[in-house]
Amino acid sequence: MTARPANAHQGRLLRLLRDGGPNSRAQLGDLVDLSRSKLAVEVDRLLETGLVVADGLAASRGGRRSHNLRLAPALRFLGVDIGATSIDVAVTNAELEVLGHLNQPMDVSEGPVAVFERVLAMAEKLKASGVAEGFDGAGIGVPGPVRFPEGVPVAPPIMPGWDGFPVREALSQDLGCPVMVDNDVNLMAMGEQHAGVARSVGDYLCVKIGTGIGCGIVIGGQVYRGTTGSAGDIGHIQVQPDGRACACGNLGCLEAHFSGAALARDAEDAARSGRSAQLAARLEAAGELTAADVSAAAAAGDTVALELI
Ligand SMILES: [Zn+2]
Repeated sequence: MTARPANAHQGRLLRLLRDGGPNSRAQLGDLVDLSRSKLAVEVDRLLETGLVVADGLAASRGGRRSHNLRLAPALRFLGVDIGATSIDVAVTNAELEVLGHLNQPMDVSEGPVAVFERVLAMAEKLKASGVAEGFDGAGIGVPGPVRFPEGVPVAPPIMPGWDGFPVREALSQDLGCPVMVDNDVNLMAMGEQHAGVARSVGDYLCVKIGTGIGCGIVIGGQVYRGTTGSAGDIGHIQVQPDGRACACGNLGCLEAHFSGAALARDAEDAARSGRSAQLAARLEAAGELTAADVSAAAAAGDTVALELI
């Protein structure tokens, strides 16, 4: 099914049902500020698309009881989060409840062809587990700037081989459904708005410190991307002239000094120089240190790890 809302009213009704779950016609009418007759027209069109179904009678508000509406229970969305070092693929229903989820390690620098081969295999595996027969839409997050209207990464600093790759076009062909592509932290910010800490605010920044550092900027409830999609790409702002070499090729970037990867590197230095016995023991056992090791050492009371954080 690839039916789409035909106008803004229908889009608004679908969003209300997605974010708020089943609702009565009467209440939806109040929320979208449409007259009874205009609402009836839009709802009938949505029922025809199969995206919305009638779902029993709502509680009476006096007078004739109105029908409840909900998004079709069979709708399935695919969510894909491509990180710097791992891939998450999840299937949700139309109300964005996660029905199945897989995570696999993979380096984004292996390039789009290898990464999407893996994504499609993971989506097939989820289908085989019985949570979906097909997908009605897919959302893809990538760890770099994206030209949003076309769904194309633009000069992503840590994604060699991805610049200009038509992610949206290629995946909508493979998956047979509409696909949206955005920067991963923009999507995280929207997730916080849908079901997290940002539910009641319209203007906020969502900062993610992972392998790198990214930022989603939300103004008036809308993600602000800037003309080239890199408005929130704060990780490669130079914070120290002639500072550390960054994966992007420049010196002194914010994420070269303060990301999870930078933390791991600082921890390895501390382990090798004998400043922290805890970190040295972990390095000896694992051969390398990650930000998670620093966190564990800090939790165990290691003062050097605490200082690094
Ligand atoms: Zn950089």
